[in-house]
Amino acid sequence: MDRDRIKNAIRDIPDFPKPGIQFKDITTLLLDSEAFSESIEIFHDSFKDSNLDVIVGIESRGFIFAAPLALKLGCPLAIARKPGKLPADTVSVEYELEYGTDSIEIHTDAIRKNDRVLIMDDLIATGGTARAVGELVTKCHGDIVGFAFLINLAELNGVHQLKPFPVFSILDC
Ligand code: AMP
Repeated sequence: MDRDRIKNAIRDIPDFPKPGIQFKDITTLLLDSEAFSESIEIFHDSFKDSNLDVIVGIESRGFIFAAPLALKLGCPLAIARKPGKLPADTVSVEYELEYGTDSIEIHTDAIRKNDRVLIMDDLIATGGTARAVGELVTKCHGDIVGFAFLINLAELNGVHQLKPFPVFSILDC
């Protein structure tokens, strides 16, 4: 599996959306269908034997990776969204941002009791978003099998927030 091809297809944008942030722009990966496809192959290889009942994609770039993996595994896909976007009954979790708080929601019927759940996003930075989605899954009485990311900003040690669950990432940057 060619991780360099994937790494080289991701564009770094300095000082976006604010000074000091190095933004990992995956739109260039999406334009490279071989590299994009390679990333889905790697996820597939890692989770094909995990007996998943549902994959939860995190808004919004998590959807881009969770959807093709769910199709390839023949596994249901659920989506965790920002407040006010999901039309039916939801459960919600509030989490801390650098300044203030945010919240994230999932449909109450998206996960059943004891479902084996994989949570996916494009990138983990501080880990706050993924952790909140983990809390959503727990509130729905699902069992978290693990978390999967295309990119782990390892310096920020967000993985620490997700203990004790396994965390898989294709690239540590
Ligand atoms: P965090 O909750 O700090 O782990 O932030 C993760 C979420 O913010 C993910 O949904 C990412 O898409 C986005 N994000 C955070 N930092 C970056 C970055 N440097 N480049 C691209 N996306 C980022």
